[in-house]
Amino acid sequence: MVQRKPIYSLRNKVYESIDILFYCLYVDCHWSDLFPYCSACCCPYGRHTTTKWGPLVNNKLGWVIMEAPALIIFACFFIFGTNHHNFISWIFFSVWVFHYINRTIIFPFRLRTRGKKIPLAIVGMAFCFNLVNGFINGYYLGSLSGSYQLSWLWDPRFIIGAAFFISGMVINWQTDNILIHLRKPGETGYMVPRGGLFTYVSCPNHFGEIIEWTGFALMTWSLPGLAFAIWTFVNLVPRALHHHKWYRETFSDYPVMRKALIPHIL
Ligand code: NDP
Repeated sequence: MVQRKPIYSLRNKVYESIDILFYCLYVDCHWSDLFPYCSACCCPYGRHTTTKWGPLVNNKLGWVIMEAPALIIFACFFIFGTNHHNFISWIFFSVWVFHYINRTIIFPFRLRTRGKKIPLAIVGMAFCFNLVNGFINGYYLGSLSGSYQLSWLWDPRFIIGAAFFISGMVINWQTDNILIHLRKPGETGYMVPRGGLFTYVSCPNHFGEIIEWTGFALMTWSLPGLAFAIWTFVNLVPRALHHHKWYRETFSDYPVMRKALIPHIL
């Protein structure tokens, strides 16, 4: 009698191939095309906004639209996946959703950016990025990563990754908070931020974000997690360097010892 392969395992193989394909496209596209580009010209939103990138939309609306897929697509692929029984995957789901509820729904409405706009092109690109990123991470954790055992909680990769994730998130939230409160309600100008990690670097919020997603990659020990950490690095290092240059050119009394992103190093 001929034994038929279970449909599930075949389907899993197809999904795994799609996942790896996306991963390759994703990392290749970002490393080879975007890094030199991002390094040379800075991403035109916030203080670097320009009309050269076409039509502009409201800044807060732009943030909600571009971040939404990372929350919705990730959650859908996780919840409708096959990993409902896996407790560890639910930990990863919770920390991701915790981050993205803030980034998508809370953070944009706390910004003091009255009347400010963001290029629609940037919103579109970030939307597409978050679509892919939400999909590969949600699908991986929801369906492909069925192997996390309870003992993973004591694995050094999980412990160190979780410590990185939590400390990165605290740094990111705390320093975003300092930046937001530099302005009084209704103000839109720029000041020199001081205190906390601003003593050492111009962009501790970006530093925190990089640590956070490096921690996520470590604790999930996954290719999609790694791809996201690489992207965050590739995206935020040039942005921090451009912010730093802008601060030095704009404020004559800008602290000379302050670095751009990594205390005492970069
Ligand atoms: P910025 O530091 O450029 O700006 C954050 C907010 O603070 C903005 O509202 C900005 O106003 C305001 N602000 C910044 N500096 C000053 C200042 N000196 N004086 C007054 N107000 C100031 O952060 P981003 O917009 O680049 O990013 C926001 C968050 O999103 C960060 O936490 C970042 O880590 C995260 N992020 C993550 C990415 C990833 O790949 N994972 C990619 C991009 C962002 P204004 O908008 O008017 O400049």
